[in-house]
Amino acid sequence: MVKALKHSPVKLAIVGGGAAGMFAAAVATERKIPCVVIERKARLGSKVLMTANGRCNFTKDVSPERFLSDLGPAAEFAAAAIRECPPRKIVAGFKSLGVPLKRMPDGRMFPADGKAATIVHAFGDLLRDGGVPVISNCPVAGIQPQKTGFIVATANFTLWAENVLLATGGVSYPKLGSVGDGQRFAAALGHRIVPYRPGLIGMETRDPQVLRLAGRRFEDGCARVVSPEGARVFEYRGEIDCEPFGLSGAAVYNCQRFIEHSLRGNPRLRHADFTLEADFGGRHFAFKGLKPRPVKEAIVTIGGVALEDVDPSTMESRKTPGLYFAGEVLDIDGPTGGYNLTLAFATARRAVCSIAGSPA
Ligand SMILES: Cc1cc2nc3c(=O)[nH]c(=O)nc-3n(C[C@H](O)[C@H](O)[C@H](O)COP(=O)(O)OP(=O)(O)OC[C@H]3O[C@@H](n4cnc5c(N)ncnc54)[C@H](O)[C@@H]3O)c2cc1C
Repeated sequence: MVKALKHSPVKLAIVGGGAAGMFAAAVATERKIPCVVIERKARLGSKVLMTANGRCNFTKDVSPERFLSDLGPAAEFAAAAIRECPPRKIVAGFKSLGVPLKRMPDGRMFPADGKAATIVHAFGDLLRDGGVPVISNCPVAGIQPQKTGFIVATANFTLWAENVLLATGGVSYPKLGSVGDGQRFAAALGHRIVPYRPGLIGMETRDPQVLRLAGRRFEDGCARVVSPEGARVFEYRGEIDCEPFGLSGAAVYNCQRFIEHSLRGNPRLRHADFTLEADFGGRHFAFKGLKPRPVKEAIVTIGGVALEDVDPSTMESRKTPGLYFAGEVLDIDGPTGGYNLTLAFATARRAVCSIAGSPA
């Protein structure tokens, strides 16, 4: 005989089954927190599958101090989460799931078979074994705070949850599911949203010398940012790719991100004020005022839920108790090299451990 169930809220509803949502569900399983994952797309981890050209550079195996010093503006907010869930712990976690790993000389970590699907499957298996319900093809439409907990609304049903973790991602690559819903829910509940900018994206130039080289990749390039005052303020050695629109590749991406953060820090500055120097193919180039490609094509979103509205020691909203954030929905972003997935994982872990009321 089936006993009538008392109507009670689920302890945790995780909205978004990307990098942060899958990791959060894994930690919830470990901490024995009943949870449910609600994902807009048909499968979990659509964006993770695309990372590093399908190879998934899931972290950078460096010390937490080095990680934080590489990070830039998000370092202060992310410090507690990263110290509790440093790259070493993420590496150990995947090893304990039986995923063979490959370490590059600079510390970038990948699954040994070079397949992002291996990482997503590892999460999928963990959630299956932990009995975590996953509701896919199901965009959450809104979050309404109640006297106790929240009503999580979808087009077909509502769910009562004691705590909600918004892990809905940024606004880049919207076809992979991250369309800014979490930021909209947060804004409706009074959180400030820092305007979006593209992070880690190519820059446009019509320089015929570059366009002539479209399709060529230069592994040992070097790109620099020259400030409006003429000082070389940032340099990154790495790949430079010539594209039909201009330049891309890790060296260019990290310079573009540096420029974007500089613009954000000083609203009087414009792209036209910066020069990008690029050395590749035995030549030196200097481009003034390059425009980035749009945010929908970016690897990461700069901007999102304002960090002032979130407690970095718990990832809980300062405005709506019981509402938590993890990953790119927040105004956090890192350079290329596994930093952004690590941020998603570490903030997710911090959120779930604070819901569990235990240290990480
Ligand atoms: C092409 C590309 C390559 C990248 N390569 C790397 C790399 O090699 N290393 C690295 O560290 N980072 C990389 N990144 C960045 C990294 O993928 C992201 O920073 C990371 O996935 C962010 O995790 P997240 O969980 O916050 O968001 P996502 O992984 O985007 O997950 C958000 C999830 O929420 C779901 N969702 C959104 N709205 C709703 C809703 N209303 N209801 C239910 N579900 C919803 C989405 O469908 C999505 O599955 C790359 C990004 C791109 C685009």
